[in-house]
Amino acid sequence: MTKARILIIEDEADIREILEYALTREGFEVSTCAAGVAGLSEARRVMPQLVLLDLMLPGLDGLEICRRLKQDESTAGISVVMVTAKGDEADVVLGLGLGADDYIVKPFSPKEVVARVRAVLRRSATVIDRHDRQKTVVHGELTIDPSRHRVLVETREVPLTATEFRILHYLASKPGRVLSRDQILTAALGPNPMVLDRSVDVHVRSIRKKLDEKRDMIETVRGVGYRFCEA
Ligand code: CA
Repeated sequence: MTKARILIIEDEADIREILEYALTREGFEVSTCAAGVAGLSEARRVMPQLVLLDLMLPGLDGLEICRRLKQDESTAGISVVMVTAKGDEADVVLGLGLGADDYIVKPFSPKEVVARVRAVLRRSATVIDRHDRQKTVVHGELTIDPSRHRVLVETREVPLTATEFRILHYLASKPGRVLSRDQILTAALGPNPMVLDRSVDVHVRSIRKKLDEKRDMIETVRGVGYRFCEA
């Protein structure tokens, strides 16, 4: 098996070195860049499987790099993990909306970064990123079947409204991935829904109540949105 290539775009030298050391030690092929424009051209040259992308960079910032990577068909398949400072939830939400896969918050432990990187690489290898509205999703005892508009916990039928159903199906079809309220609403109601982001919270509360003992499968990600857990 060939080593996964990872590009680190980070202007702080000590953080860059910590990341490079941790990931190289794990057997990844790592390249680094200290600035935005150079990072973007390096990504196009190296074609890594994953970019660890600092959001606060001189020149081109991380969100803009993410946008350009995801807009360009040749680089859109590169996974992006954002590296953010505490309190940057608004940027995280923007980044997820642009197609970033995950994020880590400074200060982080190298162990956490390695785990996150592995999880994203694993997911991008197995999950087809297009949201398939007609595909039945099964996680353990939970079955979500769009063709019959039916959700089962083992044999118990869970009565969801149409919107709740679409929200649960969307979350469950992207297990382990943090999804912003905006992404969830867009998936459930179409682009530019004329409702507030916070209405997702109301729907999720209701879904959890109906899922009952499986309620913990929907995890709240503070300040950002929700994540579906497979366990
Ligand atoms: Ca920085």
